[in-house]
Amino acid sequence: MPDMENALYVVATPIGNLGDITLRALEILRGVDLVACEDTRHVRHLLDHHEIKVPTLALHQHNENEAAAKLIRLLGEGRRVALVSDAGTPGVSDPGARTVAAVRAAGFRVIPLPGPSAAIAAMSASGLVDQRFLFVGFLPAKVGARRTAITELAPVDAALVFYEAPHRVLETVADLVELLEPQREIVIARELTKMFEQIERMPLVAAPAWLAADANHQRGEFVLVVSAPPPREGMDAETERVLAALLAELPVKQAAKLAAEITGQPKNALYARALQLKDSPV
Ligand code: SAM
Repeated sequence: MPDMENALYVVATPIGNLGDITLRALEILRGVDLVACEDTRHVRHLLDHHEIKVPTLALHQHNENEAAAKLIRLLGEGRRVALVSDAGTPGVSDPGARTVAAVRAAGFRVIPLPGPSAAIAAMSASGLVDQRFLFVGFLPAKVGARRTAITELAPVDAALVFYEAPHRVLETVADLVELLEPQREIVIARELTKMFEQIERMPLVAAPAWLAADANHQRGEFVLVVSAPPPREGMDAETERVLAALLAELPVKQAAKLAAEITGQPKNALYARALQLKDSPV
């Protein structure tokens, strides 16, 4: 039995392949007094697979506050508790955040046990070289709200990582094609770590046809990763003016930083332009 504190252990669990669980996660799940989880039958499958006998408590979005209060009572009695979700990392498009906040506010330690998360798995196998990515998770289910969300995300200078359900993947991808720059690429990662895993990279505009080409392409669980927007060619006159004025008084880095704050344009693009202006002022 490991030397364990009476803390809340936030444990990542497999997203498909049951082998994807860390040695430390198994040790902790064996050592705790209770495992709080979304679906007790689901976690029982994992626990049985590893011959772990430990009581479970249902904790899902509809009872999270009451369940968290119960966990805090148990922690107060010196018990050790684990929190898991159905798959992957708790709190990542899954319940857990409210529980973690309540437990911390009650003065108990929260100890994360890192492990699988579909977003990170997809990103790691995407081959996209974008330095930054924004984890969006699920887009709104309603068409109007989804399209507004995508429009707001369009100028963000980062790759975008979405979760999507199989019955909505086609319409979501159609909206991405319509509302994002056509030069962007998409990586469709489905059924990660499972038997029918597929990770396909293609121009964004080609994605609807790929999904429609085979009914299997729309089955299972999906992560969609869209590459960052193409670099902007040139800047608008006002941004150039602000940057040039700042550059006359300040070093390049500081000028780019301030210009980004003033204009809302990406700092890296302003920095690149500031270097050009410094070398050959126009
Ligand atoms: N907490 C989880 C995590 O850390 O990845 C995410 C839970 S969220 C409720 C479930 C969504 O994650 C699915 O609808 C799908 O978009 C994505 N997902 C989970 N497992 C996946 C897998 N094996 N392959 C692809 N996507 C997956």
